[in-house]
Amino acid sequence: MADIWFNEHHVTGSVKLGLNIQEILHIEKTPFQELQIYRNETFGVFMTLDGFLQVTEKDEFVYHDMISHPALAVNPTIKNVLIIGGGDGGSAREIARYNHIEKIDMVEIDGAVVEACKKYLPSTASVYTTEPRLNLIIGDGVQFVAEAADCTYDLILVDSTDPAGPGEGLFTIAFYENCYRILKEDGILINQHECAFHDLDAIQMQKAHSKIKKVFPIARVYGFNIPTYSTGYWYFGFASKKYDPIKDLKTEQWENLGLKTKYYNTDIHIGAFALPTYVKEILSKA
Ligand code: SAM
Repeated sequence: MADIWFNEHHVTGSVKLGLNIQEILHIEKTPFQELQIYRNETFGVFMTLDGFLQVTEKDEFVYHDMISHPALAVNPTIKNVLIIGGGDGGSAREIARYNHIEKIDMVEIDGAVVEACKKYLPSTASVYTTEPRLNLIIGDGVQFVAEAADCTYDLILVDSTDPAGPGEGLFTIAFYENCYRILKEDGILINQHECAFHDLDAIQMQKAHSKIKKVFPIARVYGFNIPTYSTGYWYFGFASKKYDPIKDLKTEQWENLGLKTKYYNTDIHIGAFALPTYVKEILSKA
């Protein structure tokens, strides 16, 4: 095994995650970010953007299950979905598994990510060629939601990079207010809430939560274990105009769909919203 490593720095100078590079597949400076795709013996093909791990063949199922299924298990009548980001296609792939969904608009700022994933990550990106309900728009999600009509979507998934670079505008009050406006009266927003263990990440989590709860009447946070993300544990926000993610969980209805998932199930749904004390404290200060 050659001694070449991809290192993701979690705390500058003292903590990093390293994946040995077995094969360099794609390196590109796009107009928006540094796009790199490698192969690792354990995690398979993986993509990084601006030095941060985005998706690996081996553990992407965790992230894409947990960004997609919770909202659909709470509101089984969701028809129109908007995905912001999600260039690897994994979130769209999971949403498309629900036959009752009528339309999936997906706004990805960087077409180079889509093209590279089509070539090197077919497990997530084949949805682009197989899914007729998927409407891919190459553009900025911030601008898209600002221009979209009121009460258009039942669900918005913000499957973006972190609040830096092109993703920064997806963590502002103005962005959340536009999401609120274009969601229907029982709409749900799922967004990135980062991890909670390292100080800088905890600050990002607090900032995101304090903004979201100013806009949505129901703003909850849920976590999941993903080996290749910083500290191995990551969080999403569940913001809603009407539904509580636990009280309104439609366990029987979701299970009757017979969807085979590898991480999500309605037990883990309930567990995911049970937060460690230190995370509750971070959020309470938001
Ligand atoms: N599913 C991946 C994961 O497992 O974390 C996440 C992300 S996906 C690769 C993140 C995408 O967000 C990238 O393709 C990036 O180009 C896109 N993105 C960042 N800022 C954006 C914006 N303002 N509008 C639309 N897409 C954006």
